[in-house]
Amino acid sequence: MHQDIENTKAASRTTGVDSEKVRADFPILNRVINGHRLVYLDNAASSQKPTAVIDALTRYYTHTNANIHRGLHTLAEEATAAYERTREHTARFIGGVKQSEVIFTNGATEAINLVAATWGEDNVGEGDEILITEMEHHANLVPWVLLAQRKKAILRRIPLTSDGYLNLPEVSRLITDRTRLVAFTHMSNVLGTINPVKQLTEQAHLAGAAVLVDGAQAVPHLPVNVVDDGVDFYAFSSHKMLGPTGVGVLYGREELLEKMRPYNTGGEMIREVRFDGVTFNDLPHKFEAGTPNIAGVVAFDAALTYLENLGMESVRQHEIELTGYALNRLTEIPGLEVQGPVDPLGRGGVISFTDPKIHPHDISTLLDSRGIAIRAGHHCAQPLMKVMGKVATARASLYVYNGRDDIDALIEALMETRRYFGI
Ligand code: PLP
Repeated sequence: MHQDIENTKAASRTTGVDSEKVRADFPILNRVINGHRLVYLDNAASSQKPTAVIDALTRYYTHTNANIHRGLHTLAEEATAAYERTREHTARFIGGVKQSEVIFTNGATEAINLVAATWGEDNVGEGDEILITEMEHHANLVPWVLLAQRKKAILRRIPLTSDGYLNLPEVSRLITDRTRLVAFTHMSNVLGTINPVKQLTEQAHLAGAAVLVDGAQAVPHLPVNVVDDGVDFYAFSSHKMLGPTGVGVLYGREELLEKMRPYNTGGEMIREVRFDGVTFNDLPHKFEAGTPNIAGVVAFDAALTYLENLGMESVRQHEIELTGYALNRLTEIPGLEVQGPVDPLGRGGVISFTDPKIHPHDISTLLDSRGIAIRAGHHCAQPLMKVMGKVATARASLYVYNGRDDIDALIEALMETRRYFGI
């Protein structure tokens, strides 16, 4: 047993992320749930927050709190500087884009809706085509379904292979001279599949289509460089990457953002307002109407720093190693069906599975009685569930504070669940 623990420690160290050390930075992981150590495996839904982020929130409200951009007093200037520092940091984090290209929203969902309601409204017309994939989260699906309905446009989708990848040979047939937008997830929140952003972007651009990437599951887990990938729009959320809830990011290429109409209207997004007309503020403020989640954005900076200190390459390596270990151990459970790619190099640490004899909700409830948090349901991907022929799956999703001991606890609890049901 002692040897096992030593092996686990050694394994997590070789990946560059020492999950045990990381765990000490997350106070919530000290909680005892139903008499057991909390094993948090619901990171695809939302991650936990390190002390550095919690402290940044408290510090902001204790020392700095004021509205931004408008005030001429010290607190307003400090709050503005802190808010804009996060923008500058975010711009660097995703590959060194311009600060004018980073728009803060309240989440990835709002970032995608912003593009649908502005760029989409003006660039998609009757008979035009929007290409998505069968593995989209509702956040990158519903805005396009509704836009297509409004515009009498056609929504096409890239199908999946039986092993959970996109069927890439189909893409050249599906992108036509009527395709205006290709919108796809960087990493699936159900299958874990990592999609080839650069390749799809090149194909879309060759046909004159714009590209929007839903990076909600990717930015927290992989090094992302939107400049290298050449995308037009890229959306993600702070709360899945150690930061506060209520903060999202839309990256948009300046040339496109300049031409787009504003999304929300009101204070801050204007240059001049008259009773008979309005002119708009410069980027990125044109898209940030009203008072934003200042404290959340300021504390998001601490989350970016935390991830940078770990190193995004190391975060990815850790997840490859841990995902491989989890996929391997899950095969020990008779009959269990794991969805998505089997190769940890082609996927992230989002692991969906079903037991032919136990409903995912029962699995989740029984795991909770052992202190293990997973997600069960359709994961906001109902069309994908249909494609998979499932109504729901159980989903364990990993992050930097998870180690092999968490996977071992999961496997042990899944075995016990089967015993509980007399299987
Ligand atoms: N896209 C994907 C792939 C997701 O997994 C999620 C959240 O689960 C979202 C978009 C939406 O993110 P948010 O709810 O933070 O707006």
